[in-house]
Amino acid sequence: MKKFLIAGNWKMNKTRAEAVQFAEELKAKNLANAKDVCVLAPFTALADLGCALEGSGIGFGAQNVHFKESGAYTGEVSVPMLKDLGVDYCVIGHSERREYFAETDETVNLKLKALLEAGITPILCVGESLEVREEGTAQTFVAGQVVADFEGIGPADAAKIVIAYEPIWAIGTGKTATPEQAEEMCAFIRGVISGIYDMATGDSMLILYGGSMKPSNAKELLEKPDINGGLIGGASLKADDFAAIAEAAASLQ
Ligand code: PEP
Repeated sequence: MKKFLIAGNWKMNKTRAEAVQFAEELKAKNLANAKDVCVLAPFTALADLGCALEGSGIGFGAQNVHFKESGAYTGEVSVPMLKDLGVDYCVIGHSERREYFAETDETVNLKLKALLEAGITPILCVGESLEVREEGTAQTFVAGQVVADFEGIGPADAAKIVIAYEPIWAIGTGKTATPEQAEEMCAFIRGVISGIYDMATGDSMLILYGGSMKPSNAKELLEKPDINGGLIGGASLKADDFAAIAEAAASLQ
């Protein structure tokens, strides 16, 4: 059976009360595949969200973390702090963090290692800009990100990472990659992972697509063989839309 993960990235949205309300609405849907679903919230909402989702099977996580355990890093949140909240997942290297907050493959790699050591599942984002796609070098660019981000990570740990392919030109733009474009790159990434490690690691890796996924296009994307789910921004803010995407994945299992 194909494995799926449907992950909602709220970005900088939702107060604690709004997060709890969403959790109640989502739980009321009695999702068939609750264990394959997670919500990635702002730090401020994580404690309340975790309590509201407890016992539902639905996972939760953060959208960033610092790679140092503690120290003089004003404004940052560490892996032990996330661990203390009981988070299951943490997004790393989202294109918005790479673009606006100077995230580099080097810091992404350090964050991946810190999360793996703590047993929190990283959701690693990679993806090319429109300029790179139009130049015809998207695969080379994405392969470069994957190779740099996985540097020094052994096969057992690598297998625990979830990769999200997010073409930057499709994030928040309403311009979804076609199922064929998304499948082509997810299959390519799987091949890169198989090349670095082995076929078994590549085959078992969860590779998500992200970029304007919504209820109306989720099924055609999710039914592609190398797409194991979605990282969903805008459409994860409403429980109805997010649940509809989760149900599209469940219908394919
Ligand atoms: C995202 O934030 O990772 C994302 C894919 O956003 P959207 O679904 O809004 O394009």
